Amino acid sequence: MPGKKNTMIDRFHTCDKDCYGACVFKGTWDDEKKVMLAASPLKDHPFTRGFFCGKYMNRVGLLYHLGRLKMPLLRSGPKGTNQFEKIGVDEAWLQIAAKARDVVKNYGPKAILGAFYSGNTGLLAGSYPVRFFAKLGGTVTGGGICNEGGIEGLKQLFGTYSTTNPFQLQNIKTRLIVIWGSDLASHNIHAAKMVENAQEHGAKLAVIDTRRTATASSADLFIHATPGTEGMIALLVLKRLMKDEQIDNAFLGRHVGKVDDVIDLIRGLDEDAVLSAININKNENDQSDHFDRERSKCNGLSRKHRRMSTTCYKNRK
Ligand code: SF4
Repeated sequence: MPGKKNTMIDRFHTCDKDCYGACVFKGTWDDEKKVMLAASPLKDHPFTRGFFCGKYMNRVGLLYHLGRLKMPLLRSGPKGTNQFEKIGVDEAWLQIAAKARDVVKNYGPKAILGAFYSGNTGLLAGSYPVRFFAKLGGTVTGGGICNEGGIEGLKQLFGTYSTTNPFQLQNIKTRLIVIWGSDLASHNIHAAKMVENAQEHGAKLAVIDTRRTATASSADLFIHATPGTEGMIALLVLKRLMKDEQIDNAFLGRHVGKVDDVIDLIRGLDEDAVLSAININKNENDQSDHFDRERSKCNGLSRKHRRMSTTCYKNRK
């Protein structure tokens, strides 16, 4: 219609599901009605590759689902009794501000704990709460609550904490990928797709898991570990690495406490006893040799796995 303003706008956007995938899509919005009409994952984005995971697949349907909360709820009965009343957003802000002032006055600002996650993993979304809590003088964690223990554990074990760069899977020199205790096919399908592509280009996939997962079913070798024996499998891997003089002593010296004790422990390891304890027989162990030959070219899913992921066993279906 002549003179009518077109309010349909296309914009690039990032998935906001607090997921490091940070998938990118092209969305269409009707800015007049303030609604999102469509979201198409980018085909030429190196990680998104034209598809969302199941969590974001029906983005528009989820956004406007009738069952979605559209206003704040205030608990109106004892905890656990599921009693709430609807309140307006302004009222919610006033209540939060009053509570925060009350805590600051009676207990000091440090009694307020700021916990937040990464949103769409952009700098603004991930970091803006820091400004608020810093101004308030509150207690700020590294960003979350449940994640902190895991990060500390990784730092103690490896000296630093970093996430894995999935693009190493696309390195054409990758000959062996080891996935240890992770079902990419169900919770990181973009990385799973990269693994699949690497396999198509000749890389071998070894999976170590206590579960027979979808990822395990696509593995060239699968070690079906009995729960609780993964540590022993790691020791066997270390034993094999030591035997083949492929231990990175400088790394161990830098990052492993009491490294001599660890080396003594591995030297004294009775391989047959461990193999029998974890229910993997010697023949199967020996049949892993052709995978061992790929070891020097190994490019696993993480530095941890690259350093440890070398002894693979025949698929034990
Ligand atoms: S993998 Fe799923 S949840 Fe994660 S960024 Fe992509 S679409 Fe979003």
